[in-house]
Parts: sequence; structure tokens; C-alpha cells
Amino acid sequence: MTHEYDDTNIFARILRGEIPNDTVAETDHTLAFNDITPQAPVHVLVIPKGKYVTYDDFHAKASDAEIVDFHRTCARICAERGIVADGYRAISNAGRNAVQEVPHFHQHLIGGRSLGRMLA
Ligand code: C5P
Repeated sequence: MTHEYDDTNIFARILRGEIPNDTVAETDHTLAFNDITPQAPVHVLVIPKGKYVTYDDFHAKASDAEIVDFHRTCARICAERGIVADGYRAISNAGRNAVQEVPHFHQHLIGGRSLGRMLA
């Protein structure tokens, strides 16, 4: 998958304030919001504010501060949303084989129900 960033993607538009989102947390480097089509009682999307396309692109190019902030924000949301005790899933779809819909790196935090085995 190309790492060429498409500024018209929907998460870029959310970050520019062009379309609304249901914000859960925001830091200097990271934004988290409820997924518009939740797959479970808790379904939060966490995105870096920088322009990264996939998991690998983010971890290759982002600063240490951005990466730490991103993962600390994910962990904080899991704790705050009460999904740690019973378990949760943190996943990121990348590229064609994973059917990535939005080409701005994002991590899904999903919990609040039994999720079954992961592989489809
Ligand atoms: O990992 P993938 O790219 O397939 O997931 C994109 C996610 O973005 C979907 O779960 C979709 O419901 C969510 N979405 C959203 N708000 C939008 C557009 C998509 O929460 N405006």
C-alpha cells in the first residue's frame, strides 16, 4: 500500500474540523472519538493528528513523542471506558488485505462484550 497521504480522507476532514465527531479524548498529538458505526458497547477510534496512512507508516515516521502519546492515550481510554478487566481488542487495519476503509492510521479499541476469536 502506498503511504502517499490523501488530504481528502474523512479523518483528515475531522481533524480540520470540517465534519463533526464524538470526541472521547484529545491531546497535542492524538484525537480519539466514538466510531460512527460501533461494533460493540465500546468502540473508540484513536488517530494521530499527523498525516500517517497505516500502522507501519506511523511507527516508521512519527516522533517518539507522537508515538508515546498515541499509545498512552489508547491505554488511558481503555481504563476510563472500563474495558480492561474483562478484556478488549486493539486493532488497526492496514491496506487492501485488511480492508482499510479510511487511509489515515487509526486504532480501534473495542470492548464491552465477548468478542470471540479474531481471525475471520
Ligand atoms: O479500519 P477501517 O478503516 O475499516 O475502519 C474505519 C472506521 O471508521 C469504521 O469503523 C467506520 O465506522 C469509522 N468511521 C467513523 N466516522 C466516519 C467514517 C468512518 O467512525 N465519519
